[in-house]
Order: sequence, then C-alpha cells, then structure tokens
Amino acid sequence: MRRLEGKFCIVTGAARGIGLAIARRFHDEGASLLLTDVDADTGIPAAEALGADFLLLDVREEEHWAELARLHPACDVLVNNAGITGFEHGPAAHDPENASLAEWHAVHRTNLDGAFLGCRYAIRAMKAKGDGSIINISSRSGLVGIPGAAAYASSKAAIRNHSKSVALYCAGQGWRIRCNSIHPAAILTPMWEAMIGVGPDRDAKMAAMVADTPLKRFGTPDEVAAMAAYLAADESAYVTGSEFHIDGGLLAGSAASPGD
Ligand code: NDP
Repeated sequence: MRRLEGKFCIVTGAARGIGLAIARRFHDEGASLLLTDVDADTGIPAAEALGADFLLLDVREEEHWAELARLHPACDVLVNNAGITGFEHGPAAHDPENASLAEWHAVHRTNLDGAFLGCRYAIRAMKAKGDGSIINISSRSGLVGIPGAAAYASSKAAIRNHSKSVALYCAGQGWRIRCNSIHPAAILTPMWEAMIGVGPDRDAKMAAMVADTPLKRFGTPDEVAAMAAYLAADESAYVTGSEFHIDGGLLAGSAASPGD
C-alpha cells in the first residue's frame, strides 16, 4: 500500500537536493504535493515532472507563508527543509570570534525563522483536523559545535529544540499533530557537488571528506527521504518530539580506540 495516499504534503526548498528527493518519495507513496522554493526556474519543472504544483515561497518571508495559508488553508504534512550554510557565495568567516552580525542573522533568518514560520503555518493548517506531521530538517551540526560554521550550528540546534516545543504544544492541545527533527550529515547534494567538482581528484576528495564517517561514504538524498516518508506516514503515529540521526554513524562516538 502507498503510505501517503490521501495526504496533502508540502516541502520547502524542494527544487533540488534533499527537498526534491523527499518530494519524489512522497509522490511515489501516493501523496498529493506542493513543491516550494525560492528558485522557480528549477522548481517549476521539478514539480511538473511529478504532476505536482509549485509555489514560489521564500521561507524567510512572513507574507509568503500568509499567501500559502490563503491558497492552502489545510495540509497534512509539512517538511521544513529549506536551509543555507552561509557559504553559498564563497568562503567567509563564520567562527564565533570573526563572524559578522549580518551573516549570523542571515543564516538564522533562513534556517530558524523559516522553520518557525513553517511550524506556525502548519499548526494552523492542521488543527481543524487535529492531525498531521511536521518534519524539520536540522543537521548533525545541530547536536555538536562547529567552530567554523557557528551560525549554521546554532540555527540547526534551535530547530531541534523548537521541534520539541511544537510537539509538546500540539500534544498539550489534544491534537495528533506531531513534530520531529531529522539530523543528516554529509548527504551528497548539489551543495557538496560544488565543493567536490568533477576533476580527476574527485574520488580522493570525496574519500577525504568522509574519512571521519564510520561508514566511509556520503549518504544519499533518497536515504533521508525514506526517513521523512516514515515520519509523514501514519505508521509513525506514536512518534513526536523525537530526533532522527542519519549520518553514517558520525554521532555514535569517536572512532579512536582507548589506546589512541
Ligand atoms: P541544497 O542547497 O542542495 O538545496 C536547498 C534548496 O533550498 C535550494 O533549492 C535553495 O534554493 C532552497 N532555498 C535556499 N534558501 C531558501 C529560502 N529562503 N526559501 C526557500 N528555499 C530556499 O541543500 P540540501 O538539499 O543539501 O539541504 C537541504 C536541507 O538539509 C538544508 O536545511 C540543509 O541544512 C540540511 N542538511 C543538509 C546536509 C547535506 O549534507 N546536504 C547535512 C545536514 C543538513 P537556491 O539554490 O536558489 O538557494
């Protein structure tokens, strides 16, 4: 049986990468879908390929969420996936000593404000039915410190905690609206492809990037999508306020032996 039959699902940042993989998986599971992104040029054909609708939605903009609520006052599943590292336009100082306040705010505005606005929309869109699933894409970086990407780590940690507040708030209202966070690490998406390149040293670069990962490889967007499908489906009805790692074992501990 297709697990998302009869559910209306919305994915942010769905034009490419993990968001697109989630949208594809939800489509395969029978969902009716709305793909949203800031990049309409890529997002529209991606949505069309799935027979889905597309909406230009910048997760930072409150009025974009208001427009979504006007067009779609009800939904069953929202995936708050859109996120940035802050390095999209090249290297910059993101350590706690040298990061600029403007860059700190920019990362939080997309990652954290975007997730807050998304959760708020979803609660209002789900409460009439009293049922639904909110899935927030955090990161491994939301669980450990990242000295060179402090704003990213801070924003992802805040998403982790806000997911639990949302889960408890909804449960406290007597609704079956669930909220959980997914914490990926090193998932091979266009974000990484730009750093790896297609040169003769591609394999060596990739191996170096996952040298600390116990499973010694990148994860795939489809592997994250499988986890999202579980959290979207009714089979996870007893799961809320939880966090799900998908990181090749990185968070399990140190690879160092006691003798090291
Ligand atoms: P990508 O950069 O490949 O895709 C992100 C998509 O979100 C892009 O289409 C991007 O558009 C869009 N986007 C950016 N800003 C906004 C915004 N303000 N409003 C709406 N859409 C926006 O990222 P990934 O697929 O790799 O990552 C998806 C999520 O997973 C992110 O939250 C990321 O932090 C998280 N994650 C990813 C990991 C990885 O290894 N890939 C590891 C841990 C977490 P545009 O390209 O035009 O900017």
